[in-house]
Amino acid sequence: MSEKIIAAISTPNAPGGIGVIRISGDGAIRLADQVFRSVSGEPLSKKKGYTAAFGTILDEDGPIDDAIATVFRSPKSYTGEDVVELSCHGGLLICRRVLRSVLKAGASPAGPGEFTKRAFLNGKLSLTEAEAVTDLISASSDQALRAARGAMKGALYRKIRSITDRILTVSGHISAYIDYPDEEIDPVESEETAHLLHEAEADLKGLLDTFDRGQILKEGVETVILGKPNVGKSTLMNLLSGRQKSIVTDIPGTTRDIVEETVDLGGVVLRLADTAGIRETDDLVEQAGVDLALQRIDTAGLILAVFDRSVPLSEEDRMLAEKLKDLPVIAVCNKADLENKLDNSFILSYFKHIVEISAKESSGLDRLRDEIVSLLELDGISADGALLANERQFDCAHRAWVLLKEAISTLEGGYPLDAVDVSVESVAGALLELTGERVTDAVVDQVFSRFCVGK
Ligand code: GDP
Repeated sequence: MSEKIIAAISTPNAPGGIGVIRISGDGAIRLADQVFRSVSGEPLSKKKGYTAAFGTILDEDGPIDDAIATVFRSPKSYTGEDVVELSCHGGLLICRRVLRSVLKAGASPAGPGEFTKRAFLNGKLSLTEAEAVTDLISASSDQALRAARGAMKGALYRKIRSITDRILTVSGHISAYIDYPDEEIDPVESEETAHLLHEAEADLKGLLDTFDRGQILKEGVETVILGKPNVGKSTLMNLLSGRQKSIVTDIPGTTRDIVEETVDLGGVVLRLADTAGIRETDDLVEQAGVDLALQRIDTAGLILAVFDRSVPLSEEDRMLAEKLKDLPVIAVCNKADLENKLDNSFILSYFKHIVEISAKESSGLDRLRDEIVSLLELDGISADGALLANERQFDCAHRAWVLLKEAISTLEGGYPLDAVDVSVESVAGALLELTGERVTDAVVDQVFSRFCVGK
């Protein structure tokens, strides 16, 4: 437990209906009594945990605001310490004055994420669960929210823990064998030891393999819509985003800037950019748009190449197909409501993923979604399952996996058991670092520096 009592405004730095000032630490309830007078006259320090009182917050000049004080007693609070939350009116000045009064009474200003850091240090949360708190707050899609909730409820922690447990079993077994060679301990080369290591290796590999796809599922995939003018790119963009944003006209070259939008297509998040139609042009402004569109090709995780199936293929279509082959492309043959004049065999020879849609009549979106899921191999990944959430976690898991493979080859290569033991111990170390059970202060500080003040 930390000695310092910390306090911060936990609600956003903007006017709102309610503002919450959180105070945490040993003595927080007595400190709150210095600034809060309950209507009933009963001091907060006489109250049980999980109870609230209505009253007034004061500073040396008198009352600041009416408020409700909620008392949480250690260890049953967010931080694991004694906590008081003062809920007042959500005016910026009110919140600041309440905080000032609390600080004057002896609290120190909380640093970024310091409440959650204390929750971690007091064993209320694992590091992966604490990291999920920031992900939860910053989630901008349903998938991101589901993933963060899954992680906060310990889905990833349990998965890592089950791998760590197997590793520690093996490590204990090897140590016992080394330390007590005369005892009747099963030989460690036994099938079971190898089996446990192989099983743990496969589980870790599974986690690593789903990292990129998990990120796509949560954060969305950078998607660019390309095609010559008038094939229906803006109409498709508008259909996907569900509202009119791009300008749809019959005049080729109307979309000159890149229009951006994040859309949720049946659980697949697309970070969309509709671009200027790609074609040779003398118009300088339009050329700039075309250049921007082409620059996006290299960085996009998904390209929707739109063709107008109601007209024969043009030289521009062929140029585009040539430019895009071998990239993550879905050929979107638009205007399926009109007679087909497109050379299907040409499209088939360039693209593996092809869908026919009518953007105008809103048909074919389900097939487009299914093709995207198939191209990005998102099938079978669930946002609320155990997913590695960030580079720190990926790095620890990857390190553990490399060391585990080393341990397996050392064991199977018949090397001395001490060598196997060293590798297995390092695997456990990397996994315990992932969950925060064995982690340096520097790593902890870095994780919490990304939090906001008040969380
Ligand atoms: P862009 O230049 O590629 O962005 O094309 P637009 O979205 O501006 O569309 C060009 C023209 O094609 C407009 O008149 C649209 O109404 C029309 N259009 C777009 N999609 C379809 C479709 O699926 N069917 C039909 N019949 N017309 C479409």
